[in-house]
Amino acid sequence: MKIAVVGTGYVGIVAGTCFAESGNTVICVDVDEAKVQALKDGKIPIYEPGLEEMVLKNVEEQRLSFTTDIDTAVKESLVIFIAVGTPPDEDGSADLKHVLAAAGSIGRAMNGYKIIVDKSTVPVGTARKVAAAISAETTHPFNVVSNPEFLKEGAAIDDFMKPDRVVIGTDDPRVSEIMKELYSPFVRTGNPIIVMDVASAELTKYAANAMLATRISFMNEIANICDQVGADVTKVRVGIGTDSRIGMPFLFPGCGYGGSCFPKDSRAIISTAEENGAKFEIMNAVERVNNEQKKILFNKAMSFFDGDLSGKTFAVWGLAFKAKTDDVREASALVLIDQLLEAGAKVRAHDPEAIETTQREIGDKVDYFPHAYEALDGADGLFVATEWNEFRNPDFEKMKATMNNAVIFDGRNLYNPTSLEEAGFKYFRIGAPGVA
Ligand code: NAD
Repeated sequence: MKIAVVGTGYVGIVAGTCFAESGNTVICVDVDEAKVQALKDGKIPIYEPGLEEMVLKNVEEQRLSFTTDIDTAVKESLVIFIAVGTPPDEDGSADLKHVLAAAGSIGRAMNGYKIIVDKSTVPVGTARKVAAAISAETTHPFNVVSNPEFLKEGAAIDDFMKPDRVVIGTDDPRVSEIMKELYSPFVRTGNPIIVMDVASAELTKYAANAMLATRISFMNEIANICDQVGADVTKVRVGIGTDSRIGMPFLFPGCGYGGSCFPKDSRAIISTAEENGAKFEIMNAVERVNNEQKKILFNKAMSFFDGDLSGKTFAVWGLAFKAKTDDVREASALVLIDQLLEAGAKVRAHDPEAIETTQREIGDKVDYFPHAYEALDGADGLFVATEWNEFRNPDFEKMKATMNNAVIFDGRNLYNPTSLEEAGFKYFRIGAPGVA
């Protein structure tokens, strides 16, 4: 099948590459000329495990190409995915300006029947707006389909190639057949392709993210109760997760969720509810809890240092909002860094992949170190904000010798307190006893 993907961000580039990998001819389009040029030169603008090899292979085999020319991409394709960003508007609702701009460009380029697929996360009613934006530009026939994406950054290729399910929102059986054909290589083990009406498909994506964000905030509050009563959340987690009605995934407490999805999608579904006369009271609480949780490491440090961090220097390990990505959008580490700087401290930051993206976001307010141990040099304490595997088994003796003061504030519960006690560290973690 001939496919165009509009928007080559985390979702667009992965979707386009995986469709090419399954034998389709895919043209990826972006308005960002530098990004397209980099892709043409074989440079992948994001860090995502396994992506580079797969892009290069499919370009080499001439199934995958990159362009800024949406006109040709649309003319040559039957199915056109919209995978542009939907950032939060000032009131928290999803800003559809990129989606509708893409729809208008698609409409202007049309030369016959097309299927336009909303893959961006968009509120209920967007497919109608996309259809209106296209109709304003063309008399050619088309269908608009909702096909929300559930991939996780850091495991995006695997998630796309082996999805738990594919959700297709359309009322047209011919369109759902074409979409099923396109996705059939990815569901050979029997995972379902679920066809539903457009509004339900659009809402499904937000409901999924709202549920996952709720589990995280729920566990963060349980962890905070553990801290107060002297219980251990790592044990409570196993105690509840083994209940088959609850399940183990997504029960890890931490220093707050970030990323380009949970925060913005939580706010957007609250807006959708309010605009339509419904309530989503739980989500308001989930958001409030998360905003507070992002301050937890700072608060722990403040109480350890008797309320005064001025003139101190701290190492921060982990800038990305989670491991295996370079994405720092709404990352907890950035909130922590702001708080530390505001309190008069200096920051020495390290991340295996996200130094460049952080520098783009916050500039040179902090010092960056490509090696984890260098960031510790002379530090009065270490904060761990991302659960990178590289941080899990460090050389504590070496760390202690490098740091000015052997204390760790761990937002991801990576370490065994006994090992840290033996190494002479003070250790504070989330919802579980450390070494005071
Ligand atoms: P992103 O910001 O990484 O990329 C968006 C891309 O779209 C950018 O390269 C931008 O230049 C391009 N773009 C903007 N307007 C355009 C236009 N008119 N024509 C062509 N290109 C245009 O975004 P992302 O993280 O890939 O997210 C895309 C959508 O997918 C969002 O709605 C997001 O909520 C959703 N989503 C993201 C993830 C994720 O993990 N990142 C997962 C599932 C769903």
